Amino acid sequence: MDIQTTTRTELVDITDRVRTIVKESGVEDGICVISTRHTTSGIIINENERGLRSDILEMLETLVPENKNYAHNQIDNNADAHLRAALLGNSAVLPLEDGHLVLGTWQSIFFVELDGPRNRNVNVKIIKS
Ligand code: ZN
Repeated sequence: MDIQTTTRTELVDITDRVRTIVKESGVEDGICVISTRHTTSGIIINENERGLRSDILEMLETLVPENKNYAHNQIDNNADAHLRAALLGNSAVLPLEDGHLVLGTWQSIFFVELDGPRNRNVNVKIIKS
């Protein structure tokens, strides 16, 4: 799945796109692995509410400030993005039951851009059980 991000940091809700891939696979029961191929992005599952999306980015800024004297910035000016990605992780795993992702009412799948804007790629692997 290709994703074009538009700002340096943002949460992109990819739930509908993952659901479409699951539907097209025809798999009824199994697991779905959603992973990002990049070192400055993450995959998380949480509520898609505007305030919360902003709070998550604010939390990342508090935990890993953008402007600090990071060693990696001597060769590439994006250490904060790598460190934030390390905190979030690069994948999510969800069960598939009766052809549907097992997600709670308030759960959405997000691609988290940490060093955009960029063209990104997310892999969705569906394993039949
Ligand atoms: Zn880097």
